[in-house]
Amino acid sequence: MSTERTFVIVGASLAGASAAETLRHDGFDGRIVLIGEEPQRPYQRPPLSKDYLRGEAGPDKVYLHDEGFYAEQQIDLRTSTRVAAVEPGAGQVLLQDGERLGYDRLLLATGAAPRRLAIPGSELPGVHALRTLEDSERLREAITAASRVVVVGAGWIGSEVAASARSMGAEVVLIERGTLPLERVLGPEVGAVYRDLHTDHGVEFVSETGVDAFDGAGSVEEVRISDGRRIACDLVVVGVGAAPRVELAQAAGLDVDDGVAVDERLETSVPGVFAAGDVAAAWHPFYQARIRVEHWANALNQGPAAARSMLGTGAAYERLPYFFSDQYDLGMEYTGYAPSWDEVVFRGDPAKREFIAFWIRDGLVVAGMNANVWDVTGPIGELIRQRRPVDRSRLADPDVPLEDLWKS
Ligand SMILES: Cc1cc2nc3c(=O)[nH]c(=O)nc-3n(C[C@H](O)[C@H](O)[C@H](O)COP(=O)(O)OP(=O)(O)OC[C@H]3O[C@@H](n4cnc5c(N)ncnc54)[C@H](O)[C@@H]3O)c2cc1C
Repeated sequence: MSTERTFVIVGASLAGASAAETLRHDGFDGRIVLIGEEPQRPYQRPPLSKDYLRGEAGPDKVYLHDEGFYAEQQIDLRTSTRVAAVEPGAGQVLLQDGERLGYDRLLLATGAAPRRLAIPGSELPGVHALRTLEDSERLREAITAASRVVVVGAGWIGSEVAASARSMGAEVVLIERGTLPLERVLGPEVGAVYRDLHTDHGVEFVSETGVDAFDGAGSVEEVRISDGRRIACDLVVVGVGAAPRVELAQAAGLDVDDGVAVDERLETSVPGVFAAGDVAAAWHPFYQARIRVEHWANALNQGPAAARSMLGTGAAYERLPYFFSDQYDLGMEYTGYAPSWDEVVFRGDPAKREFIAFWIRDGLVVAGMNANVWDVTGPIGELIRQRRPVDRSRLADPDVPLEDLWKS
């Protein structure tokens, strides 16, 4: 018998769709409305800067579920539908077309949007950002037609797009405001591995420079950088980070703190309203801090965790942050959270691009990254959770099993 309760999920992507799936899996027999402004059924984004962008993988790889899944599961999936407002007092969401939907529980899984550069020429044709399936398809066509691509920002998406564009045969210039790719997260030692990886593949890496303008008659032809130089190109990809989509939450009076502030069960400051994925700044019991993680595994796991909290069976979400990246023939996984550290210890040779790097703070391992080394994220996570001082030489020694580091 139906409970006749209605759970509404705003954002039909990884966090939202995995929450809907869990609600049904865990026996919720009320109404589930999954609302997304994009025209497609839920898909995942990591392939959009990798094999899907390069045309090596088809749409099958990106969709989270078969087309019939939502109807079979009686999930009312509303694509191309934007939620204009959340009204917690009335327990309703207002859709852009004026329809109001009442809810008993609400999940905000509105994700993040690419940051734009507020500089002249940002709107010129040929200047791209990458977030959606259409962005990736447009970019694939544009890279195929381009001879010289400038990527602004050597973060994860910029670095992956640079690698893909290079693999597709374009000349690539990668511009970074800092000194090295990915330096903010990985630091100089591992950032240098990525710089060398790109330059070895023929990317021109231009560091320590901002971008002042994009110029061109009709479409982009030049990037003007801060030292006055002009870099010729016929395509620009801007990858300067993403901002959480907190507008609905903010307007509804929910606490917002970088992302939508939630407790360890992913409930917002308004009871009955939850948030998960890129948009959520969640209290993390292990770190005793609120953290917002913009990565695939976090959305994949927080969606179900939020669903259980909506059902009243939830527990604290305490998975360690985890992400992966693939660039050329270098695949990596990173486990942990290290906003600061004292030193980096390598196990293996970074120059050979087959290693594990450990970030150490106050003598404890706070994060680990395995690069072209596999099946070690379990032990790396355990090393972090153990919070026991480690012997640097044993940490660096590939002959010492990682498990032995916390057992001894
Ligand atoms: C190109 C690219 C490559 C990536 N590669 C990796 C990778 O290699 N490894 C990794 O760990 N992570 C990667 N990520 C990050 C990962 O994809 C995100 O962490 C994940 O998509 C977050 O899922 P989400 O459901 O929280 O949010 P999103 O995927 O951003 O989805 C939010 C959805 O909500 C919708 N929405 C927002 N507001 C409204 C509204 N008012 N009404 C209706 N709908 C709304 C949006 O349109 C969107 O569809 C990548 C991201 C991108 C863009």
